[in-house]
Amino acid sequence: MAYSVKEIFYTLQGEGAHSGRPAVFLRFAGCNLWSGREPDRATAVCRFCDTEFVGSDGDGGGRFDSAEALAAAVEACWPAQGAAWPAQGAAWPAQGAAWPAQGAAWPAQGAAWPAQSAARPARGAAQRFVVCTGGEPLLQLDAELIAAVRARGFVLAVETNGTLAAPAGELWLTVSPKAGAPLTLRRGDELKLVYPQAGAEPERYAQLDFAHFFLQPMDGAEKARNTRLATEYCLAHPQWRLSLQTHKLIGIR
Ligand code: SF4
Repeated sequence: MAYSVKEIFYTLQGEGAHSGRPAVFLRFAGCNLWSGREPDRATAVCRFCDTEFVGSDGDGGGRFDSAEALAAAVEACWPAQGAAWPAQGAAWPAQGAAWPAQGAAWPAQGAAWPAQSAARPARGAAQRFVVCTGGEPLLQLDAELIAAVRARGFVLAVETNGTLAAPAGELWLTVSPKAGAPLTLRRGDELKLVYPQAGAEPERYAQLDFAHFFLQPMDGAEKARNTRLATEYCLAHPQWRLSLQTHKLIGIR
């Protein structure tokens, strides 16, 4: 399958439970709830979008003809310091041997692989992390791409509007329901609700099967008011946590 990607870049995840975590952002082109073109906004299902997802002309964007090619582009964004895992085929220390200290060189080729239950590398070593977003990533993300990216040592997260089924594969699933759109994904890791939305009140989702519930103030002219309302709601309903768009607060994308 070919993939249309708006941009790929390395940053900090700004929102939700992984806020502050270094991540490669893989932004797919296209969404099923808005064309992404301003003349269509007033008649779209989702009208408050703050993301540019049309085309494939952003940094690192383009058309990728295979899952392998796109996975390689994701991997290329991860910094060398965090890529501390040995290359495929490289040697591992003998069973029982301690892992090298962070920054130390990897063992010479020829050593045996540790048992599968052996400990992971040094505590604090960076875990590669990619956030699949959009647009609507589930229009394109498939099991083949998940497998290709995971094979390169990444944990995958996906941020979806929840209207489409998720493909097979291990994912951190963030669902952000939109008023007026059907909600297909009713369980996952975090439910992140942009607030307030008439027709998408938190009470509609509070019983769903998610590990984390976040309210995120809607951006725009009413941002200060929305932040106050979201804060008050969380204080009154402690099942919900406040999610701020911290990347905007500190001026990164
Ligand atoms: S569903 Fe998400 S990507 Fe699509 S228009 Fe709404 S906010 Fe933007």
